Amino acid sequence: MKKTFSIGGVHPDDKKISAGCAIEVLPTPKKVYISMAQHLGGPAKATVAAGDKVKTGQVIGEPTGFISAFVHSSVTGTVKSVGLRKDLAGIPVIHVEIDVEDDEWMDGIDTTDTIVREIPQDTKFILDRIRNNGVVGLGGATFPTNVKLCPPPDKKADILILNGAECEPYLTSDYRIMLEKSEQIVIGAALMKHVLGVERVVIGIEENKPEAIAKMKEAVASLAAGTAGYSGIEVMTLKKKYPQGGEKQLIDAVTHRQVKSMGLPIDVGVVVQNVATSLAVYEAVQKNKPLIDNTITVTGECFPKQSNLLVRVGTPLSYIVDWLGGIPETAAKAVSGGPMMGKAIANMDAATLKGTSSILFLTEEQTKRKPETNCIRCGKCAEACPMGLEPFLLNKLAKNRMYDELEENAVQDCIECGCCLYSCPANIPLLDIIRIAKGDVIRIIRSRTAPKK
Ligand code: SF4
Ligand code: SF4
Repeated sequence: MKKTFSIGGVHPDDKKISAGCAIEVLPTPKKVYISMAQHLGGPAKATVAAGDKVKTGQVIGEPTGFISAFVHSSVTGTVKSVGLRKDLAGIPVIHVEIDVEDDEWMDGIDTTDTIVREIPQDTKFILDRIRNNGVVGLGGATFPTNVKLCPPPDKKADILILNGAECEPYLTSDYRIMLEKSEQIVIGAALMKHVLGVERVVIGIEENKPEAIAKMKEAVASLAAGTAGYSGIEVMTLKKKYPQGGEKQLIDAVTHRQVKSMGLPIDVGVVVQNVATSLAVYEAVQKNKPLIDNTITVTGECFPKQSNLLVRVGTPLSYIVDWLGGIPETAAKAVSGGPMMGKAIANMDAATLKGTSSILFLTEEQTKRKPETNCIRCGKCAEACPMGLEPFLLNKLAKNRMYDELEENAVQDCIECGCCLYSCPANIPLLDIIRIAKGDVIRIIRSRTAPKK
């Protein structure tokens, strides 16, 4: 029987209408805006100023703490400005604006297509390359990858899971890289396996991607047969169920281990990385290439040209969409990410980030909220919740601002998957209400546990 997680989940139509679109390279725009806040943790500090000449792959932002990351120029040109500019959510963030003049890459970056299979044995060399090339998690969290690969001394991983589930409807960028860059992804996995010192790597892919499963199995088999360092890597077919790609759900599906409330995967001996992160690790270590581009799905039934594009980080969304023919009149909303967990795009002039995975256009009909009615106590939201929460109860407690009770009922464990909202016949905006309450409760927990000054 195909594996899946044990609690809750829903089955939205997967709508992978861009799955057949091979990755195309988007021409470099005339101008890029590179954010210094592209990762979880402290924003990077810009190391360039207006008038500076930069090359492709040059450092333009340095980490500002342990949990932070380098940022590199994705183009060659002249820095026009360093200052505040609105991001996708409309929030002002420091960006480096660069006028693009050429595409001259920094010395030492291997820009050839040659695949480098031999795994370096020096783990410090691998970790330094990952850090220095600004690799962050591309599954949504953008946590600096070198930090995740160095668990604290009292915690030990025994398995690395690669997330190839891509369970959100519409998204196909991970699917395309699994088809087109399968070998590089497996090499990235072997590099991380070596750093972590684990014997086993499982690449979890949902059953609705049979071609990707076949390609990845083929890559695993050929690397294991020909080169040292590739034993213990397997592809696992998972049942199609949302949110299979949630970290805790994937760990449950693959290992049957349960991560406790407010716990981390490493607490149960697991490190999870996305397949796109594995590709970035391959490029960083084997090609010395910084994370300056990524594959983005542009899709939606109302969008005339379904696409998977390789885009330089810092490219304005409006440039991408104009290149594909412009925003159709029937589009009422643009979302970054999928329809379940994605965030509305407030500003089409915003630039792409390392972690941008899609631009999804939805019609008014698709975004219109049905009128809310009273809770009929059907329990469907609780049945659907993959974290075992009681969304109807959390909703009631949130409306009454009962923070102690919200914490007792583990609102802080909500992964904001939207399964409750998707299942509710009364159309109650459960996710919106619970998300705000979760933020408040986490702030209360942090203020309680913060060291006293
Ligand atoms: S959004 Fe939160 S409460 Fe709702 S189903 Fe997902 S985890 Fe449960
Ligand atoms: S699914 Fe909606 S109507 Fe049913 S119990 Fe939950 S909140 Fe109430």
